[in-house]
Amino acid sequence: MKKIIQDLSPYIPEKPLNELRDELGLDKLVRLSANENPYGTSQSVKKSVISWAKTSHSNRYPDSAANQLRQLVSEKFDLDPEQLVFGVGLDEVIVMLSRVFLSPGDAEMISVPTFSEYALHAEIEQANIQKIATKKDGRIDFSAMLEAITPETKLIWICNPNNPTGTYETVDEIEKFVSQVPDNVMVLVDEAYIDFVTCEEPISAMQLTKKYSNIVVMRTFSKAYGLANYRVGYAVFSKNVAGDVQKVRLPYNVNSIAQVAAVAAFMDQEFVTKVVEKNALERQKMQNFFDDKAIHYLDSQANFIFFEYPEADKLADYLLHHGYLIRTGLKENWLRMTIGTKEDNAEIRSLIEDY
Ligand code: PMP
Repeated sequence: MKKIIQDLSPYIPEKPLNELRDELGLDKLVRLSANENPYGTSQSVKKSVISWAKTSHSNRYPDSAANQLRQLVSEKFDLDPEQLVFGVGLDEVIVMLSRVFLSPGDAEMISVPTFSEYALHAEIEQANIQKIATKKDGRIDFSAMLEAITPETKLIWICNPNNPTGTYETVDEIEKFVSQVPDNVMVLVDEAYIDFVTCEEPISAMQLTKKYSNIVVMRTFSKAYGLANYRVGYAVFSKNVAGDVQKVRLPYNVNSIAQVAAVAAFMDQEFVTKVVEKNALERQKMQNFFDDKAIHYLDSQANFIFFEYPEADKLADYLLHHGYLIRTGLKENWLRMTIGTKEDNAEIRSLIEDY
C-alpha cells in the first residue's frame, strides 16, 4: 500500500442520522452540518425519475457523455458543450482534477480554512499543500497567494463563496488574479454555492474559460438544486483542457437516474429562485440575531454561516442534544451552521438565547 494512505487518518464511517437520533433519544434530529437544501427537491425531479424507472432499462449503461444535460447546461451558460466534464458530484471532479494536474512533489495552494477535499486529494497524489490564511473578514488573500507561488505550484483552489467562511469574491477580482498567475498554474474556481449569492447578480467565472486556458470553474446540483443524493457536479474547462480530463473520467460515472434528475432540476429554475430567496431571507434573520447577541460571524453569501463562539464545541453539543447537528472542527471556537427552514432557524435562535 502507498505510504500516504497508511498515514491518512483512519476511516470512520458516518453514522446514519436516524441512528444518531435514536441514540440521543430525540424525536427529531436535523442535519445542519452538510449545507444541504432544506427545501427538498423540485417536484418535477420526482416525476422524471419515476417515469424513467417505469420506461427505461436498468440493464443498459448510462449515456457516458450525459448529452442531454450537457446540451442544457452549455446552452444556458453560453458554453461549448465540449467544455464540460461531469462527475459524481463535485467530489469526483476534485479527484479527477487532482489526478490530472498533480504529480508527486508538486504543490497545491489553498486558502485556509476551505473545503477539506482539496488538500486530501492533493496529499493522495503526494503533492505538498501551500496554505494561505484568509483575511480577517474571511475573504481570500489574493495578493498573498500570488506572492507565494513557486515553480512547484500547479493548482490553486478558489472556493467562491468559500466554504466555510461563506464570503464571496467578484468575478473581476478572480479575473485580476488569474491574469497574474503563470500560465502553467491552474486556477480552480469552485462555485458550489454561487447560486446563493444575492449581494449582486452572481456573475460566474465560467466565461473566463474562453479567455484563459488555466482556469476551471465548477458547479454542483447538490446545493441550490437540492439533488445532493443524486451526485451530479461538473467542471467547465477551456476546450483544449477538457479532453485531457475526459481521459481519466470513469466511462459511466453519472448514472441515468442522476442525469434525468439533474435535467429536470435544471429545467425548473423557478424552484431554484425560490430556494435562493428563502435562503437569503433566513440568512439575514440569522445574521441580525447574531448582531443583536454580539456573536461574531462572517458575512455570508452562501447557505451557511460561520460564527465564533467561546467553547464552541459545547454549544454544538447542546444544539445536538436539542435536535440540531452543526459543523465543528473547522477552526478553533468557530462553528458552521447551514441555514435551515424558517421554523428550524427560529428554534435554533431560541435555543441559543436560552443557552
Ligand atoms: N465543493 C464545496 C465547496 C463543497 O462544500 C462541497 C460539498 N459540501 C463540494 C464541493 C462537493 O459537493 P458534491 O460532491 O455534492 O457536488
